[in-house]
Amino acid sequence: MSFKGKMLVFTAPSGAGKTTIVRHLLSEYEALDFSISATTRARRDYERHGRDYYFMSPEEFRYRAENDEFLEWEEVYEDQFYGTLKSEVDRLWSMGKHIVFDIDVRGATNIKRLYGDDCLAVFVKPPSVEVLIKRLRDRKTESDASFAKRVKRVKREMQYEHDFDKILVNDLLEVTLKEAEYLVEGFLNIKNE
Ligand code: ADP
Ligand code: 5GP
Repeated sequence: MSFKGKMLVFTAPSGAGKTTIVRHLLSEYEALDFSISATTRARRDYERHGRDYYFMSPEEFRYRAENDEFLEWEEVYEDQFYGTLKSEVDRLWSMGKHIVFDIDVRGATNIKRLYGDDCLAVFVKPPSVEVLIKRLRDRKTESDASFAKRVKRVKREMQYEHDFDKILVNDLLEVTLKEAEYLVEGFLNIKNE
């Protein structure tokens, strides 16, 4: 039978620290790989197609959605679509990897529902909304309009923290990264060398 790995889903409001945590885990554990999502949003300068996202036009995204190519997809912000392609899961499992996701709270809920105990869903929680907004501002990646969209969504997303398997408070980064390692090791029953 072909390999079926486990799912590690990190979800949180934008700016909470998912990307930072996920990148760290990927650099620490060879058994893990990242689910590259498809999105219609504009690429940031430091992002690469096929590494951070599969960037695509709204037309291509819609075509693939109608063709049932997504495991899940959401309009995370108005007119900005994000989704996990089924082919991405197949690609990573065929490489023998456990899959790490960085997706919004609705997508995370859907993946958890699909995979049950084979999925660990972690909500990354900032120490406060104010700290999150400061981090997002300091990241300097968003236009004023995009920044406003993200901040508007924060409070709603924060209400979902209890819907997931674990809450990871991201205050002191060093501590958070260690805690994230323990979560991964416990769930996959592996140890970092
Ligand atoms: P997300 O992927 O959830 O939107 P990021 O990982 O991009 O969040 O983090 C948002 C910003 O906050 C980034 O500039 C990142 O370097 C910074 N950051 C993340 N975690 C911490 C932390 N514990 N303390 C201070 N800054 C942090
Ligand atoms: P960003 O534009 O900051 O990269 O991501 C915005 C939001 O979209 C984040 O909450 C991120 O987790 C979420 N997201 C990224 N990829 C996916 C995906 O494939 N599916 C869903 N549902 N959300 C995603």
